[in-house]
Amino acid sequence: KSVEDYIESDERFFPKSFSWKQLPLIASKAYGSIIEDAYGRKYIDFSTTLANIIGHSHPEVVDALKKQLEILTSFPTCYFYAEAPSKLAQKLVNITPGSYKKKIVFGFSGSDAVDMALTSSIFYTKKKFILSFQGSYHGTTYLSLSTSEIMAQNDTSKNLLYKNIVFVPYPNPYRNPWNINGYEKPDELTNTILREIEKTLKSLNNDFVGVVVEPIQGDGGIIVPPKDFLKELYKIVKSFNGIFIADEIQTGMGRTGRWWGVEHFSVEPDLMVIGKALGGCMPLSAVIGKSEVLEAPPALGFYLSGHPLSCISALKTIEIIERENLVNRAMVLGDYILRRLSKLSEKFNIIGDVRGKGLLIGMEIVKDDASKAPDRKNALKICWAAWRRGVVAMTVGKHSNVIRITPALNVPMDLMERALEVIEESVKDVVN
Ligand code: PMP
Repeated sequence: KSVEDYIESDERFFPKSFSWKQLPLIASKAYGSIIEDAYGRKYIDFSTTLANIIGHSHPEVVDALKKQLEILTSFPTCYFYAEAPSKLAQKLVNITPGSYKKKIVFGFSGSDAVDMALTSSIFYTKKKFILSFQGSYHGTTYLSLSTSEIMAQNDTSKNLLYKNIVFVPYPNPYRNPWNINGYEKPDELTNTILREIEKTLKSLNNDFVGVVVEPIQGDGGIIVPPKDFLKELYKIVKSFNGIFIADEIQTGMGRTGRWWGVEHFSVEPDLMVIGKALGGCMPLSAVIGKSEVLEAPPALGFYLSGHPLSCISALKTIEIIERENLVNRAMVLGDYILRRLSKLSEKFNIIGDVRGKGLLIGMEIVKDDASKAPDRKNALKICWAAWRRGVVAMTVGKHSNVIRITPALNVPMDLMERALEVIEESVKDVVN
């Protein structure tokens, strides 16, 4: 089959709403940080490892899955008792922040877990309005899509979804109105937005459920808020009796150089939503947090929630991250990549900003440093040039102009170096 055949079949069967592909990569095999396509070409994976956080088909995870397949596969965790889900629950309770009594529910995707967190919060508070952020992405189910500003806020969809959502600005240090050259006045940015949030919450007449927030905005463009923002946001939300939900689907599991993104900002959320990397390579998500909030709704979860295969894969993944000290590695490699790309950005003024924490990194492509006008076309061109040279990277952001760099936490040094060289060559290609 040719690439065209695959594309034609994709278009025939899948609606556009379900097909978000950026590169004509036809994956047939993947191991570690390498993807092999249907024609035997190899690529370094700098992108899909948000989920495969310790690389593709890690041999120890594969072994654990094989063993589990032979003894117990699908088993409805909500109805009966089994070893794997409770072991994983215990592990997650131990490694997540929160000194209060914690409980946990399992889902399959980030979207369904965000939905469960919001549903629980609505039942617990018996209120109506949810606070979310401009530039946010939380998923594609009813409540998660409703709170995803980058998806839900066009004129038609905003009237069709859950209406009681208020969107407020997320502090973006690169694009704040006072920023002339770099991150100059993060405190002022934080304060201005916090005052606006306070005003908004006052106007809700005590009908406030809570906030759902990404500790670092992911699909919105890898935006790291100023240091004190989340802590201050937490205080305000509490003063209005709201629930604080951290969406850690992209920032969790060690990706940012801490186990959870909120740890960079000294916040203990009421509920934390985890997904993507949690299952290692299997579909798994979870909401973990205050027992009384998760007890509030009449039902949560699904027949296949807490699937033993997913739980075993998660347990093994966490074991490997801990054993190999990969959270720390993410921090060290992340700092190194940030330095390399920052140097590159000094040479090329189409690189407007380079930012991130640990191995969650974004490189924002603009027309030029002075205008900061988002340049989606060139960002895509860079990704295509990298792909031709054997590196898979993709763009994110409201304007699709931020190149997301998220290698596996155990990416081998030589592959990482090669991928960085390719990205540098690809930027040069596009500039020349
Ligand atoms: N929240 C965040 C922060 C995400 O990045 C994503 C996925 N991009 C989701 C929620 C939704 O997760 P899923 O696609 O697994 O439903």
